Amino acid sequence: MVPKLLAFDLDDTLAESKQPLTDEMAHAFSSVLDHIPLAVMTGGAFPQLKKQFLSNLPGQSKLDHLYLFPTSAAQCYTYKDGDWRLQYDHSLTADEKAAILAAFDESLKEVGLAELPHEVWGDRIEDRVGQITFSGLGQFAPVPAKRAWDPDKKKRDALREALSKRLPKDFSIKTGGSTSVDITREGISKAYGITQLSELTGIPVRDMLYVGDALQDGGNDAVVKETGVPTFAVKNPDDTVVLLKKTWAEFHIDDHVSKKFLPLVVTALAVAILGAGTIGIIISAEPSPETIVKETSQQHAAPAPILKKGYR
Ligand SMILES: [Mg+2]
Repeated sequence: MVPKLLAFDLDDTLAESKQPLTDEMAHAFSSVLDHIPLAVMTGGAFPQLKKQFLSNLPGQSKLDHLYLFPTSAAQCYTYKDGDWRLQYDHSLTADEKAAILAAFDESLKEVGLAELPHEVWGDRIEDRVGQITFSGLGQFAPVPAKRAWDPDKKKRDALREALSKRLPKDFSIKTGGSTSVDITREGISKAYGITQLSELTGIPVRDMLYVGDALQDGGNDAVVKETGVPTFAVKNPDDTVVLLKKTWAEFHIDDHVSKKFLPLVVTALAVAILGAGTIGIIISAEPSPETIVKETSQQHAAPAPILKKGYR
């Protein structure tokens, strides 16, 4: 059965990390968006989502079917009257941000990551409004360099541990992407996004499908499983394109079948009705011998006795 809604992770699911959507992906995504609501959940901030994702969708895409959850679902945007509007916003306050930045300062020193790597691409610590994100090689590092930086996750796990000693429990600290550690308010996660998505659309969580590349334990998509949403693991955007095309084909087949067979069914019904009508006319125009005999015998039959009350 085709899900009533598909929700996607962005990096390494819909697009290579921080890279724009390919034309093939943009087209496949937009085609499915014609039929059902789709959602995108990412650790990135809304401007990044606009640049990496929205600007590459075909112009005729049904944007009012789309739900965007930037900064690990600390915010939700929907499209109304020609513009993107906030449905909710759990941005960090100035005091919360200051506490997080101080904790990063000390923790990076503790785990030996305070010194800048040989090459860095952009800021290493980024304020994403609802989330503070550390990216080991800077937020614009190329994918191969990012993949080589912390393949066993040891650097990020050590940093996460050091941060958790310094920050109160009302913050959530998660490793994300291939070089990053994300901090949001506790309770703000893609799982929160899934429950909000269900409330906004009225579609039960069990009728959705979440698609992500990091659904394994410890991955930044795994948290959605808490909600009971069915999940589909992909290795990369190529797998996701296949899933989108298959989903679209199912709608297309339904359409095709109904378009192809509906006229046949209507014609068959019309023939049947007309046929029955014609037979009826013939029958009524030429009464059968039994009818004649019956009618004749009725004309000559004795009148039926009139039964009076109390006779039986
Ligand atoms: Mg991902």
